[in-house]
Amino acid sequence: MMNEQVINYIESIIKKRSPLVDEMEKYAAEHNVPIMELVGIETLLGILTIQRPARILEIGTAIGYSALRMAEALPGTEITTIERDEERYGAAQEFLSRSEHREQIHTLFGDALELQDQVAEYGPFDAIFIDAAKGQYQKFFDIYSTMLSENGVVYSDNVLFKGLVAEEEIEQKRIRNMVKKLQNYNVWLMNHEDYDTSILPVGDGIAISRRRGEGNE
Ligand code: SAH
Ligand code: MG
Repeated sequence: MMNEQVINYIESIIKKRSPLVDEMEKYAAEHNVPIMELVGIETLLGILTIQRPARILEIGTAIGYSALRMAEALPGTEITTIERDEERYGAAQEFLSRSEHREQIHTLFGDALELQDQVAEYGPFDAIFIDAAKGQYQKFFDIYSTMLSENGVVYSDNVLFKGLVAEEEIEQKRIRNMVKKLQNYNVWLMNHEDYDTSILPVGDGIAISRRRGEGNE
């Protein structure tokens, strides 16, 4: 992962965000909401503005931070986002209601493992952003990659889990189990027959998986 000094340097030259986005960053810090790290989201936005997806599916809204940042960066893009935690979903509603980008974002409340039918109404998606329960990534991928458009890309956040996936031994059992699951996901993803994947060691680690569609091998 990048060292602290380099991260601080990049953060120091990133453009100021809007007052609403600022407020969300503060809320997340105060309430321990794991929104994307600044360098991570900026990198993702950079790539998305090159990809220019018409429709994005996000699994894991939290308070709507990444959804809003994507909506701001891609004004023509429709974003569908899912959250199962009632309090976070409520906070997302409140924050997003104050944005002029509100109508670009469809917020769905519920467990992503159970919302396929509802989500399908908003697809197909050119980009799918997986940023929810780390132990379920493969399930999310299997369910929702069926809704990916021909040249679609799946982005998975937190695949390096603070660098823990590279540790030899981890004391805490709960963390160790989580790390195992992420390691399994990463290997499974890297060897997936239908996708080419690379992992960017920015933020908490972002995997980028491009479908190997026809004419695209
Ligand atoms: N993408 C957000 C951060 C998401 S944090 C941002 O960067 O701004 C991960 C969120 O995923 C949490 O709020 C958690 O409640 C939610 N989540 C975890 N598992 C989920 C599931 N199975 N279905 C829906 N939401 C889920
Ligand atoms: Mg994340």
